[in-house]
Amino acid sequence: MKRLLAVIFAAALALSSCSLVKQTVQLEAMDTFMKFEYYGSEELGEKLSQSVKSLDKELSAVDENGRIYKLNQKGSGKLSYDAEKLLKESLALCESTDGELDVTVLPVVKEWGFINQEYRVPASTEIKKALKKVDYRKISLRNGSVKLNGCQLDLGAVAKGYAADKSVKLLSENGVETALLNLGGTIAAVGSKPDGTLWKVGVADPANPSDYVGFVSCKDKVVATSGGYERYFEQYGKRYIHIIDPKTGLPVDNGVASVTIISDSGVLGDALSTALFVMGLKKAQSYHRERGGFGFVILTEDKKAYVSRDICADFTLSDKDYELKILD
Ligand code: ADP
Ligand code: MG
Repeated sequence: MKRLLAVIFAAALALSSCSLVKQTVQLEAMDTFMKFEYYGSEELGEKLSQSVKSLDKELSAVDENGRIYKLNQKGSGKLSYDAEKLLKESLALCESTDGELDVTVLPVVKEWGFINQEYRVPASTEIKKALKKVDYRKISLRNGSVKLNGCQLDLGAVAKGYAADKSVKLLSENGVETALLNLGGTIAAVGSKPDGTLWKVGVADPANPSDYVGFVSCKDKVVATSGGYERYFEQYGKRYIHIIDPKTGLPVDNGVASVTIISDSGVLGDALSTALFVMGLKKAQSYHRERGGFGFVILTEDKKAYVSRDICADFTLSDKDYELKILD
């Protein structure tokens, strides 16, 4: 009898933990606002939020109490489990994108004032000097110990993607089947909506980011966007964005306004949204053709929406000013 009661009690507990109560958690982390909506227990929200906040501290290159900040001061040291995992994944993506993504671009980002918000156009000699410290191939990683060999580490382009992946894992371990996690431009759609229909994830209008030019219908996907509109400054009528070409040390200025990547992984999506932005339309198209494993929506300044054929059925353009172009 006791046993039977225990079984009934456990079953009731399991039922209540995955009951369809909508929970919303909002927090500020990784330099952005995040909003998590999920159907599950309330306590899970606290766990999610703690997990993302501690990742923020762990992965930030600018938090003086964080390990990466200290690593950049010392030049070598031990990484946490998460930082090591993310660095390994990121270095592979730096390699596959031929350094268009480069996790050592920080010295150049600093020259442009994107770290302390004291924006400025550096002299070309200053850029050249900073570029000498940029080369992800110099980083050596062995058994959790990293040597920077004159470089500095910045996982800023991929941290939100990692936080998304870890949050999705945490939710699924706790039996949550339905959630929409918005980590400021990196959006994870877990399962489908409670009514069984697909999630609709908006693709922001670069000219007015609170509005959308269209949306991606999906389930169990991460939709990650890098936009020039996220952070930039203007001087003498010219716009300088926070996405830097690691080969030239200059803010990207190639006609691309935003890149959205649709894939199964937050880290991949986040890394490629930055890397394809740097590549520009032509190179991005051939990278996609050669590698696959993701879909893209690239919005250009001349108001075209270039969508990869593999996901074109999932993308709906709603802004009439944009022209839809499907790419193979
Ligand atoms: P957001 O943080 O707005 O989502 P991204 O994911 O594109 O934008 O990341 C941009 C951040 O990554 C920049 O603020 C900078 O710190 C860093 N970064 C800029 N250019 C590169 C690059 N080519 N490779 C790696 N990191 C970059
Ligand atoms: Mg990115």
